[in-house]
Amino acid sequence: MPSLDLKTSVQYIKGVGPRRAVILERHGIREVGDLLTYAPFRYEDRTRFTLVKQLLPGEPQSICVTVLACGLARTRRRGMFIYDLAARDDSGIIRCKWFNGQYLERQKVFRQGMQVIFYGKPEPDPYGHGNLQFINPQFEIIHNEPGLETINSLEMGRVVPVYEAMGELGSRQLRRILYGLLESTALKEFDPLPASIRRARGLPERGVALRQIHFPDSREKLELLNAFRTPSQQRMIFEEFFLLEAGLGLKRKRARRQTGISFQTSDAIRGSIKKILPFHPTTAQKRVLREIVEDMRSPSPMNRLLQGDVGSGKTIVALQAMVIAIANGYQTVLMAPTEILAAQHYLYARRIFAPLHYRMALLVSGLKAKERSEIRSRLKNGEIDLVVGTHAVLEKNVEFQRLGLVVIDEQHRFGVVQRLELKRKGEFPDTLVMTATPIPRTLALTLYGDLDFSVLDELPPLRQPIETRWLKDDQREKLYWFLRQEMKSGSQVYVVCPLIEESEVSDLRAAIAMYEDLSKHVFPDIPIGLLHGRMTNKEKDEVMTRFSSGTLSVLVSTTVIEVGVDVPNATIMVIEHAERFGLAQLHQLRGRIGRGKKKSSCFLMTPETVNEDARHRLKCLEQTLDGFKIAQMDLELRGPGEFFGTRQSGVPMFRMANLIRDQEVLELAKREATRFVERPADDPEFEAVLRYLRANWSRRFGLMSVG
Ligand code: ADP
Ligand code: MG
Repeated sequence: MPSLDLKTSVQYIKGVGPRRAVILERHGIREVGDLLTYAPFRYEDRTRFTLVKQLLPGEPQSICVTVLACGLARTRRRGMFIYDLAARDDSGIIRCKWFNGQYLERQKVFRQGMQVIFYGKPEPDPYGHGNLQFINPQFEIIHNEPGLETINSLEMGRVVPVYEAMGELGSRQLRRILYGLLESTALKEFDPLPASIRRARGLPERGVALRQIHFPDSREKLELLNAFRTPSQQRMIFEEFFLLEAGLGLKRKRARRQTGISFQTSDAIRGSIKKILPFHPTTAQKRVLREIVEDMRSPSPMNRLLQGDVGSGKTIVALQAMVIAIANGYQTVLMAPTEILAAQHYLYARRIFAPLHYRMALLVSGLKAKERSEIRSRLKNGEIDLVVGTHAVLEKNVEFQRLGLVVIDEQHRFGVVQRLELKRKGEFPDTLVMTATPIPRTLALTLYGDLDFSVLDELPPLRQPIETRWLKDDQREKLYWFLRQEMKSGSQVYVVCPLIEESEVSDLRAAIAMYEDLSKHVFPDIPIGLLHGRMTNKEKDEVMTRFSSGTLSVLVSTTVIEVGVDVPNATIMVIEHAERFGLAQLHQLRGRIGRGKKKSSCFLMTPETVNEDARHRLKCLEQTLDGFKIAQMDLELRGPGEFFGTRQSGVPMFRMANLIRDQEVLELAKREATRFVERPADDPEFEAVLRYLRANWSRRFGLMSVG
């Protein structure tokens, strides 16, 4: 008799209770509906166990055996503890061993006579005369009390779901709880996926799918189950993506209905845009500018993400868009994540816009109070056309007379919230956010699902590919010799010092030590500069200017130069302790070179030994320059949660879906959702989805709720 519904708190589920409810809650499982979507991560075929006699080495197999003897032993040579267990089935005897298995002894996990299922890849036992053994196998105890021989139909004779344990709740407990839960829950009436879409896609009903996911019937193939490819699994994955994409689609639709500014483009304006170009634009730049101009001409506010690998030339496109806004009598903002980058953009804009006589200002927190208040009042009175700045432009007392276009550079460095704050400073201004972090498409579809997309997928011409080499510290002499040769022929060098911890102080120390060593001992005859976050703006500007103009040949720096900095004559990048940086960050740093016509080289310096992960990253970087490939690799290595680190919150957590494994389902769900949100408002299915999203959006997708 169904007595629970999806909203019932988990503590009322049979077998849970208040104590286990706390454990579940810690894993984000509060209601019956949450627990039902806690899917097995693996399935085991227990319709037939392999007989001990028939085990094959190296293949994953499960056996069902009775424990004969077990206990802790100490190895003779190394003095290590090994937990050793012997067990049998009708066909023979097998040994299982656990290295450092003291806990098994301490917790008295096994006893003679117990029936146990072991799962793993058996291997030859070096002392066992050609027998096989299991090393650290996974196991599940079927009978706690020896002698009690009734075989439970949940554990045997079927394909059995295996759950990730949560604290004391092991796979077996979860299996029992879920079995009872599926029996006693009213699953039928609830399905957030519109029936018409479900049918058109040939997907099973939700209740059926959930039952099949937890307790698949014998028709489901084991390989499909373990690849999450059965119709039931695909249905739940589709549901998750569909709801997310529908929510994002609705946000986009709402944004489109707002009335913003329709910028006009005359021949004169088009002429100005061309006039400021210092070079021929790439085809990609032309295409992206067209997309932006179209948005700007339309009355609904632009919400566009411009994505382009480092060095693809995003800045000039943004400046071209600004010409349109300013020519229409509006003010514009260009926001950058660091003061160095803001200063560089400001100087670049001054140079590019020189023929147009725009009124410009740089607003950063390092300014004197008087200068700042002067800029503020000029902004408010409409006496500034373009303000370039850092977070300082977000402050409450910064007001605009007529803000028309907001450009945010290196958007991934800012939170989503900040994008909103800047937009609020005008009445629906157009917004262009730019990022050089090449976001893999799947992640972009979710993370920035409320934005339209442009991609600069072409580098400006005459770029020489960057050669990347990973060097160990013992090759440092050779490196310095090479640097000297290159500097003789006019090249400039960045030396970036490591991130020791997430601490500016220790970064600083490393950079200072490197600076002293290079300027006193290695290159005493060469002008070297030092740049770090603790310097005043004036000092930073001075150093950057001297480096840009070529007065300094070497710039020793902390990671403050990571984003955006553009000195085309700098063609050598040395990254110290490269093993400590993430892939994306290394790629960004490397993006500081390879910007001119001369061949560039990047050296990744590490100690003699580095760990496996770091080796992966360094090899990857040596092999490819393609930011999208690198980002994809990064995503696979670290998972979406950490991909953006702590800087970017808002990556949604999925229950069953996996952004890497399920890319195709995501694309499909997005297409369906995009079409779905265009349905008339009184369509009953549309109303139902809207109601569901309103009630569940923030809980399901949490920080994703942006405007
Ligand atoms: P990013 O996309 O990394 O922000 P930038 O806008 O800093 O790239 O541009 C990188 C460099 O390439 C700059 O020196 C810029 O002047 C130059 N550049 C951009 N577009 C072109 C082009 N079409 N032809 C030649 N050089 C270009
Ligand atoms: Mg840039």
